[in-house]
Amino acid sequence: MASGQYADVRVGLLWETPTRQVMVMGDGGPLTIWVDGKKAAELSSSDGLVLKYTDAGIHARSLLLDLTAKKTITFRSPVGRGFRLRNMAPKTAERAYPGSLELSKAGGNLKMVATVPLEEYVGGVVQAEAGKGHWLEYYKLQSVSCRTYALANKRRHAGEGFEVCDATHCQVFHGRNKQDSIRLAVALTRDLVVVDSDIRLIHATFHSNCGGETMNAEDVWSKSEPYLISTIDTFCLHEPHSVWTKSVPRTKWLNYLRKEYGVNTDDSNIVASVTEHVPECREIFLANISPEVSLTRLRRDFHLRSAYFSIHPEGDMVVLNGRGFGHGVGLCQEGAMHMARGGYTYTDILHHYFANVHLVKLQNLDFFRDDGL
Ligand SMILES: [Zn+2]
Ligand SMILES: [Zn+2]
Repeated sequence: MASGQYADVRVGLLWETPTRQVMVMGDGGPLTIWVDGKKAAELSSSDGLVLKYTDAGIHARSLLLDLTAKKTITFRSPVGRGFRLRNMAPKTAERAYPGSLELSKAGGNLKMVATVPLEEYVGGVVQAEAGKGHWLEYYKLQSVSCRTYALANKRRHAGEGFEVCDATHCQVFHGRNKQDSIRLAVALTRDLVVVDSDIRLIHATFHSNCGGETMNAEDVWSKSEPYLISTIDTFCLHEPHSVWTKSVPRTKWLNYLRKEYGVNTDDSNIVASVTEHVPECREIFLANISPEVSLTRLRRDFHLRSAYFSIHPEGDMVVLNGRGFGHGVGLCQEGAMHMARGGYTYTDILHHYFANVHLVKLQNLDFFRDDGL
């Protein structure tokens, strides 16, 4: 298979901000404008085009141009350049994107789809998702994760005419990356994606801090993955989100267990178990009582940072002393950052959190698959 198939990502822009008016400008060069599939004009690099949703189509106006499209307006930039986009209502900051842009009407608003070279997309996502100040190996880890996600989710928005959106629903993408260390990390991992032992692209699930032990996927989401299996993690134990405390009124705690799970709160042994318990490792159910009480559901219902905690009675309260932050499946971000700081490579980190995974060049994916490996 030609690598060209993987070369671009079609991203739905401003996807969580319905908009009917935007401004488009060139980014370091002119843009060629195509109206309903025909080449129509050139937007000079110093001109800005305001596009408005109208009943008749899309109306585009600048100092020098006045155009109306029935269906689509497309902007193409010279190779290596891009465009700048600003939402006019509500007004947002201008963002610079690599690649080309197509505007059309959809559901009463403007739909904007950028066609972005894959490696540029990965850089933009790493910048938006990981932020500043990380070690190079951490950025490399993020680069292969974001690239893998983009390829594994090409059909996520198929019904809407693009591949991934630019919001947290998929991966946050606010345009071109501007950080040198991220550019280097993307270049040093170029074309690499993470696959499992069946050469399937993995879901590189992550959370903030596992509290010392990650979870099996099936214990949280009832679906197992061979690479999302529980592992001991000491790297995150002294990080910002390694511990938490929450007090809950004792009557609220016991009433909840009785009403939601039918726990017998007249039995003093059971009450003792659910108000004083120290797990030796991560558990799936509360204090080994019957009926079983899901810790993942407790976490959700009591808005706890994690499902990994001990319980102590204190007057008319029960005090939960917890570890970690998040669902606990897959990559522990604070542990991964700690490993990167400590000199581990991104492949060490990957293999620590994901079992039996491999890095392959995306151009070779079908070669391995066809080979029956
Ligand atoms: Zn999405
Ligand atoms: Zn951890």
